[in-house]
Amino acid sequence: MGNASWLKQGTLVLASNNKGKISEFEKMFAELKLPVNVIPQGQLNIPDAIEDGLSFIENAIIKARHAAKISGKPAIADDSGLCVPVLGGAPGIYSARYAGDHGNDAANNEKLLHDLKPFRNADQAIEGMFVCVLALVTHAEDPLPQIFQGFWHGEILEAARGEHGFGYDPLFWLPELQISSAEMSKQEKNKISHRGQAMQRFRESLI
Ligand code: IMP
Repeated sequence: MGNASWLKQGTLVLASNNKGKISEFEKMFAELKLPVNVIPQGQLNIPDAIEDGLSFIENAIIKARHAAKISGKPAIADDSGLCVPVLGGAPGIYSARYAGDHGNDAANNEKLLHDLKPFRNADQAIEGMFVCVLALVTHAEDPLPQIFQGFWHGEILEAARGEHGFGYDPLFWLPELQISSAEMSKQEKNKISHRGQAMQRFRESLI
């Protein structure tokens, strides 16, 4: 069970400026019906934090503390990305800037396909895992951030499929469902995705 005292403050800042994430979170938070306003940090003119941690957990905490410090409110951050074991876990925490520019999804996908070429083998799929770490801090110096994690296993396609989602979704194949995560509706994706799973842990902490 988590500490839900922050609920009394009436506001929770969502420490992300990523439109794709924010749109998935908006749907999930609406379903939770929390007695607080969840406000994306952009609406409070909070700029991106400098993500200089070496892990998803460290970066999620950095982002949450940064938003809590500027806003003076409790904040929740998502640090997420795609880990590909044959690439030693890359793009990993550098998922958003794998090809250089922050948030250039097309260039990131192209680089991933390029880097995976030497590992392509007709009879073996290339495994990948989406990771989502949520960090919730009640204030900027909170000594006890609450952490909720989700992991989503799939395979990396050789060519993009689907129009929905964002980031690496068009390259993420779900063999059991025979679709890519960019071929799922937001609702279907939220039910099983790394972010959906982390949100489920968050939901459980409120009980
Ligand atoms: P962050 O905003 O620094 O956490 O970077 C997250 C990056 O990971 C995004 O820009 C995407 O490239 C990738 N990513 C995270 N979650 C997803 C997802 O649900 N679908 C596709 N790509 C994702």
